[in-house]
Amino acid sequence: AESVLVSQQSHGELCKVLALNKAAAAHEQKLVVVSVSPQSRASLAARCKLGLLETAQKLTTFLKSLGVHHVFDTTFSRNFSLLESQREFVRRFHRQADDKKALPMLASACPGWICYAEKTHGSFIIPHISTTKSPQQVMGSLVKGYFAEQQHLPPDRIYHVTVMPCYDKKLEASRPDFFNQEYQTRDVDCVITTGEVLKLLEQEGVSLSDVDPSPLDTMLGRAAEELSSHRGGGSGGYLEHVFRHAAQELFGIHVGSIHYKPLKNKDFQEVTLERDGEVLLQFALAYGFRNIQNLVQKLKRGKCPYHYVEVMACPSGCLNGGGQIKLEGESSKEELQQVERLYESARAEIPEENQAVGELYQHWLGGWGSEKVLEVLHTQYHAVERANSALNIKW
Ligand code: SF4
Repeated sequence: AESVLVSQQSHGELCKVLALNKAAAAHEQKLVVVSVSPQSRASLAARCKLGLLETAQKLTTFLKSLGVHHVFDTTFSRNFSLLESQREFVRRFHRQADDKKALPMLASACPGWICYAEKTHGSFIIPHISTTKSPQQVMGSLVKGYFAEQQHLPPDRIYHVTVMPCYDKKLEASRPDFFNQEYQTRDVDCVITTGEVLKLLEQEGVSLSDVDPSPLDTMLGRAAEELSSHRGGGSGGYLEHVFRHAAQELFGIHVGSIHYKPLKNKDFQEVTLERDGEVLLQFALAYGFRNIQNLVQKLKRGKCPYHYVEVMACPSGCLNGGGQIKLEGESSKEELQQVERLYESARAEIPEENQAVGELYQHWLGGWGSEKVLEVLHTQYHAVERANSALNIKW
């Protein structure tokens, strides 16, 4: 059943929905929203030899020419994921004496990793996984919740598409946890990869360089004049944000620049906070299957020294995701470096300083730590018996 759902999530499916929408009577038409990930934008910019901002502006024009009504940026929803992860970590840190599984807290934004953890290590590992939703799924909740309310539409009258660097994001969107039973609609209806956007452009005979730019949309209706992202690597900067917040909140220490110490390889790195020779915080990045296996073995033997680990299935993280565009005529290493340079060229945003995010917390979510925050921004995981697993995990 999951493979059927996933095949329903493709650029072909999006084209079908757009064609049906154009032919439908006005009262039956859906409002089509596309949310683009910053990793996908960097990959497209590298492929089309454009800057990040012009890529976003031209992509907006192209998508709207196909019948899309609004084009958003998932950097906005990632602010919520980062803020919630920070707070969740501090809560877990305070409860570590009573709850042996409170720490280490393991990041949850990568569905490749979540799928593996649920199917391979199930009930042992689940309590360690952060309950904070990924940026894709927070965007799903915002679009089908807040934005639907603003547009005076029920959630099922919005068709929400995300553009992601990753095939596993299709599986994530298909999880029953992200299905609205009342309205029989998913928070994210369709996920297309960066490569599928390129196929769409080719299918329409359009070169992004030749497209005129459009102003960027924002969910709160204000014009966006520049692009932003989050510091700390192409997978979202979870480690950096959680580390800085925890250092300040738990120990009153302001962290300047962060020093990563490579361990076995560049995809397994450590960051520590020390005071007078005492280690206060010990965090790690573990990217790629080998490093994840190593981490899980350490956890099982009770020898994992970390308080927090940013776990990502792809070596080098999401910028190197399986759904990204592979550039022509260049070695894959150079290609990845180019995408990384572009990704990092965006202004680094500090989630606490984003006014629109603060307003939504205050007015729509009912304040930090409210019931609605738990319902809208958090999720749960499910141990799956290996024998019953219908999915093959690609590594
Ligand atoms: Fe997808 Fe890879 Fe990123 Fe995980 S690390 S979310 S599998 S692109």
